[in-house]
Amino acid sequence: MRYAIIGGGVAGITAAKTLREHAPDAKITVYTFEIHPFGLYARKDMARRLITGIQDGDELLLESEATLAEQGIELHYEEVLRVFPHLKQILLPRHIRLNYDRLLLATGATPCIIDAPGLHYIGVHQVRNYEDISLIEAWMPQLQQSGAVVIGGGILGMDMAYALNRRGVPTTLVAREKHLGIPSLSETDAALAEKCLRAEGMQIVLGETLAAYLSEDNRVLDGVRLSSGRIIPGRMALCTVGVSPTTDFLIESEVEIDAETGAIWVNANLQTNQPNVYAAGNCAQIDGYIARTWKQSAEQGRVAALNMLGQSTLYHPPVAETITPLILESIQERV
Ligand SMILES: Cc1cc2nc3c(=O)[nH]c(=O)nc-3n(C[C@H](O)[C@H](O)[C@H](O)COP(=O)(O)OP(=O)(O)OC[C@H]3O[C@@H](n4cnc5c(N)ncnc54)[C@H](O)[C@@H]3O)c2cc1C
Repeated sequence: MRYAIIGGGVAGITAAKTLREHAPDAKITVYTFEIHPFGLYARKDMARRLITGIQDGDELLLESEATLAEQGIELHYEEVLRVFPHLKQILLPRHIRLNYDRLLLATGATPCIIDAPGLHYIGVHQVRNYEDISLIEAWMPQLQQSGAVVIGGGILGMDMAYALNRRGVPTTLVAREKHLGIPSLSETDAALAEKCLRAEGMQIVLGETLAAYLSEDNRVLDGVRLSSGRIIPGRMALCTVGVSPTTDFLIESEVEIDAETGAIWVNANLQTNQPNVYAAGNCAQIDGYIARTWKQSAEQGRVAALNMLGQSTLYHPPVAETITPLILESIQERV
């Protein structure tokens, strides 16, 4: 049996390991377009590691390529361009087509960037992968001197702003809502987090949106203008305003995609509308629910793999899920 998995994140790698556990002789291949040749690294720990400084990507490594190879899991650093479920084939660059028996789509999500004048300036940034966080680390001296603006008051924005501020970067956190942490935190936790961030010396601007990225030399960012006209200086504008499922490559594949969210429709067995094609993690949607956390993405990878093996297993979305924010943890540490 040939199992192909598109996506080397936590959903894809958990699925690969589950398949291997139950099918010692199967061919298991994972395709990923992460540029850094890593295996599985902890995306969720990037903000935390930024506080101490990222010197070596190995600090974030959970499973190396070598460990996966020992388990007979092949990792290919290739972007899958198309899937053809009726032919049971995937298309790689250089017109390479490969056959599979069962396919898992575990392509995660892509961060949204705020489209505003000046979008092309150096310094307009988002954070999703190791390259993004390494770039922020490389700019640290400039950021410490000129500051950064984080746009988006959700969990990721709060964590990133906290981490930057801890590294001595004068940081302003901008949120369009009237309080931070929407939608994950309760108002009480959000108020606690805001108090903590302000006590750390961070500027917080609520109820405002980004109007334009600014640059005097028309090349490198030196600030942003908000909807009120207020200007905030900074060498980096970090957009943390949500993610959208990475499903563009499925256009014309006949895999059913939700028109509103862009996520792949799956049933309780995490199977798509196409035979032998499953989906798990940030790219999949079950009964209106999309996993946003590490834990749920891993669980979906596990359940999808069991179903791919023919062991019918239902996935039950959690009643409520909250990403534990770094800042709240740090408050608890200090209390
Ligand atoms: C900075 C940051 C902080 C976070 N903090 C937390 C936290 O504190 N707690 C928490 O629970 N969650 C956190 N998350 C969210 C968590 O990391 C995600 O929910 C989880 O990584 C999703 O796993 P996934 O496998 O679905 O997708 P991903 O981890 O995004 O993996 C998707 C994979 O698919 C590959 N891919 C995509 N398209 C293709 C293609 N066409 N061909 C080949 N490969 C492709 C990508 O290269 C990638 O390897 C955080 C995320 C970020 C970015």
